[in-house]
Amino acid sequence: MKPVIALVGRPNVGKSTLFNRLTRSRDALVADFPGLTRDRKYGEGRGASKPFIVIDTGGLEGGEEGIDFEMASQSLLAIEEADIVLLLVDGRAGLNPADEQIVEHLRKLGKPAFLIVNKVDGIDENVAVGDFYGLGIADIFAITASQGRGVSKMIEAVLAGY
Ligand code: GDP
Ligand code: MG
Repeated sequence: MKPVIALVGRPNVGKSTLFNRLTRSRDALVADFPGLTRDRKYGEGRGASKPFIVIDTGGLEGGEEGIDFEMASQSLLAIEEADIVLLLVDGRAGLNPADEQIVEHLRKLGKPAFLIVNKVDGIDENVAVGDFYGLGIADIFAITASQGRGVSKMIEAVLAGY
């Protein structure tokens, strides 16, 4: 069985950009405004040493209502379906309470999680990453999904257990 990897995190952190890179497609809509991917989207991982399935999600903010609630539900379903969760955060925006809520949820489910600090282009990577140590996730990778920096190293580490 191919491992299933879910990309979760707040809207606009770069989940769809990473999905497109991991699947070598343009299937996921990338936008300058948050919340464009409302449904979960599945793709085949390409270019890594092992095959895998990746799920893109719309994003989780916590306390969602209406259409945002639907979007959040899709993210929660994706987490349940996944073998591994990649929690994406925005290295420029810093730690957000929503990130802590997602981590709490992952702990309850006992899902293996990697913390992916995205958008570290043009900023001090170590400072950006340090802001998220408090989340208590040991496996942290800094990447730039848009340029692909750090992505290959990250996905190989994620797949190493499979
Ligand atoms: P999603 O809502 O989490 O799926 O985020 P998107 O993939 O749609 O990206 C949101 C915005 O962040 C888009 O304008 C992307 O081009 C931008 N973005 C994604 N990855 C990076 C990155 O590594 N660096 C920078 N500077 N911008 C990025
Ligand atoms: Mg998206």
